[in-house]
Amino acid sequence: MENSTDCIFCKIAEGEMSTNFLYEGENVIAFDDINPQAPVHALIVPRAHIASMNDVGSAADNLVGRMFHVARDIAKQKGIDKTGYQLLIRTGRDGGQEVDHIHLHLTGGKELGLNVG
Ligand code: AMP
Ligand code: ZN
Repeated sequence: MENSTDCIFCKIAEGEMSTNFLYEGENVIAFDDINPQAPVHALIVPRAHIASMNDVGSAADNLVGRMFHVARDIAKQKGIDKTGYQLLIRTGRDGGQEVDHIHLHLTGGKELGLNVG
């Protein structure tokens, strides 16, 4: 598992790697995905290094709720709140998780199927 020293999302959160920030809050940040899969593709990320959904303790319940609130606000900011969007947290190998720092994908701006493949 990546630790916070070589974790790209920790680096982005600490300002050591540049990105197009959409939101910079006390506990949560959001930025555009570098390899967008839809016209809108943002990532909502806690500043704290939490590896995956499996590592969310009850103390982080509010944090996960906050991530969803920020996603909802960005959907509105991007103008896709009415047309619709998807929110996705990939977890582990079979879930297709590639970055071991929990993140919520916000995708929209086109009609999206349910991606189960
Ligand atoms: P996942 O497969 O759920 O772990 O998603 C990782 C996502 O992070 C992918 O959609 C990547 O395109 C995205 N990503 C990787 N590196 C960066 C980066 N430096 N800035 C923005 N997005 C990134
Ligand atoms: Zn991290």
